[in-house]
Amino acid sequence: MKIFNTLTRKKEEFKPIEEGKVRMYVCGPTVYNYIHIGNARPMIVFDTVRRYFEFCGYEVNYVSNFTDVDDKIIKKANEEGVSAEEISERYIAECKKDMADMNVRPATTHPQATQEIDGMVDMIQTLMDKGYAYKVSDGTVYYRTRKFDGYGKLSHRDIDEQEAGHRSIGVVGDEKEDDFDFVLWKPKKEGEPYWDCPWCKGRPGWHIECSVMSKKYLGDMIDIHAGGEDLIFPHHENEIAQSEAANGVEFARYWMHNGFLNIDNKKMSKSLGNFFTVREIGEKYDLQVLRFFMLQAHYRSPLNFSADLMEAAKNSLDRIRTAGANLQFIAANAKSEELLDGEDAILAGKSEFVDKFKATMDDDFNTADACSAIFELVKYCNQNVNENSSKALALGLYDEMNELCDVLGIILEQPQDNLDEQVEALIEERQQARKDKNFARADEIRDELTAMGIVLEDTREGVKWHRA
Ligand code: AMP
Ligand code: ZN
Repeated sequence: MKIFNTLTRKKEEFKPIEEGKVRMYVCGPTVYNYIHIGNARPMIVFDTVRRYFEFCGYEVNYVSNFTDVDDKIIKKANEEGVSAEEISERYIAECKKDMADMNVRPATTHPQATQEIDGMVDMIQTLMDKGYAYKVSDGTVYYRTRKFDGYGKLSHRDIDEQEAGHRSIGVVGDEKEDDFDFVLWKPKKEGEPYWDCPWCKGRPGWHIECSVMSKKYLGDMIDIHAGGEDLIFPHHENEIAQSEAANGVEFARYWMHNGFLNIDNKKMSKSLGNFFTVREIGEKYDLQVLRFFMLQAHYRSPLNFSADLMEAAKNSLDRIRTAGANLQFIAANAKSEELLDGEDAILAGKSEFVDKFKATMDDDFNTADACSAIFELVKYCNQNVNENSSKALALGLYDEMNELCDVLGIILEQPQDNLDEQVEALIEERQQARKDKNFARADEIRDELTAMGIVLEDTREGVKWHRA
């Protein structure tokens, strides 16, 4: 299996630290509002990475945090006149609901920054003891960036090359030693949550939380660290500096970053008015459509979101689900339980698509091509299975389709209300085809509905239908 590693900018063969196991950390959202569809991208992408590892037989320890102390959370709490904790608890619960609706499985552990302060104080103390951190007079603790030799290795920035430009800005305070130094701990301000620590009453900087939670739940060295590409610099670069200086070993072997999601080819932003929460999209679509839409692109490519593309994704997903429903209907009504003459070859033929699916996923999780492999399997089923087929053949192919969909987190089973909509649409299309005297199409639709287990009745009031 090959993974594109941001650290080396190459696709590398995946070799786990411990045979058969994957330790992976994915930076999670700051919880001050409903998550937006940009936040949903890393959730869906890395949940799929996890599922594929499990499909390949790995045991995955998957950790993803909630940042529950932050300026934005405090601002929102002050606006509503409630505590920061109330805001973060509310939006963690809402986020978990959205994740479930997108079929994103809960992490092995979802640590919260505010529950891990002791570990952060310990790591900051270690960094101070080793000379990688220093305190200034108001109690702020900074990381001494220039002391860490590897600084810039992830984002491929040369800190010295940037020096001139940086100095000219002349923003280094009297006590902060260098512009590149970043905050590990900051003093409290009025109305903010704070914790006691040896330096001052205050709260941690953002970067230290991930270094600490990753160490606590996964160990000093992990296999994969992931997040959106905006996190490469400075967040992940700073995490490396903290963890490697404190622990004395390489932090993460593979760094994976998803590309950004744009809306109508523009950056998503509240001020442009092109900002969607997952909840809003869920009111218009089954969130499986959003998931399928995201997986039809490569995770490292920028992805454009638009109503047209969502409609296309909905139709594609319907095609797969209709094929699944056909197979189930045929299985339920088959005259023969066992494979008939010649059917073993048809059943064995599925391996071509499974092999293609695996090969594409092995190539840096190319879910776009993996979706194509599923479409090819759908076509193969539509061509080779009919009402004369055996139950064993129909179910054998259904189970395969279901397993591949499940690796992508796609639920093959049609949601009931969705099915109703689809049946109504097909009936309408059949009526139109009859009006247009296109009887071939009208018959085709009746057959399609029959295969879905739908019985039509032509009555004086119009066409009625029921499930067989
Ligand atoms: P945040 O709450 O801003 O820290 O973001 C949580 C996760 O969502 C991070 O991994 C971000 O990189 C990712 N993310 C935020 N906006 C987008 C976007 N428009 N497209 C893709 N990923 C995003
Ligand atoms: Zn992080």
